[in-house]
Amino acid sequence: MARRCCSARRCGSIACAGCAWRYSLHISRRIQAVHPRRLHTVAIGRSTYDPSEFRQKRKSIHNSVAYQRRRCSWWNDFGLWLWLTGDRLVGFAEFGSITPEEFECTFQRHGAVSACPIDIPFVRVEVYRAALMSSPPIAVEHGRYQALRIAIEPVALPVLPISSDTERVVQPMPVLL
Ligand SMILES: [Zn+2]
Repeated sequence: MARRCCSARRCGSIACAGCAWRYSLHISRRIQAVHPRRLHTVAIGRSTYDPSEFRQKRKSIHNSVAYQRRRCSWWNDFGLWLWLTGDRLVGFAEFGSITPEEFECTFQRHGAVSACPIDIPFVRVEVYRAALMSSPPIAVEHGRYQALRIAIEPVALPVLPISSDTERVVQPMPVLL
């Protein structure tokens, strides 16, 4: 049974407008924290509500990015945040160094792809909309409805002061099996 949501005790469900708004603040801050370059709203078609199939889809998308990062370091500053809404995945992509054509070419095997530039101040509203639209929210944890989502953040590039020159070290993404 859903808990009553009030300021003293939030229900924490993304099906609750108040909690979804708070959730959108948390997520939009995480996205802004990576200082995204060339942020876009994106949608990828043909997805599924079946949790096991969704996990497979998430793994497949993760591996697509891992593959591109092994081939070309330009993909290291690419980031992707998606929510399952209806039969599509919607959310954001930080294109960083890659082109819209490279994005489309990589993800079209997962469904019809669309992308549109977005300014940072609008990110929170879009996260809120995606969270509320991600119904039926079937991932239930501790009595809360959780959104089914995919998050692949840009690779942090630690700068190691090993000499008067500096060197960037990039750890490869693991392949999910
Ligand atoms: Zn609530």
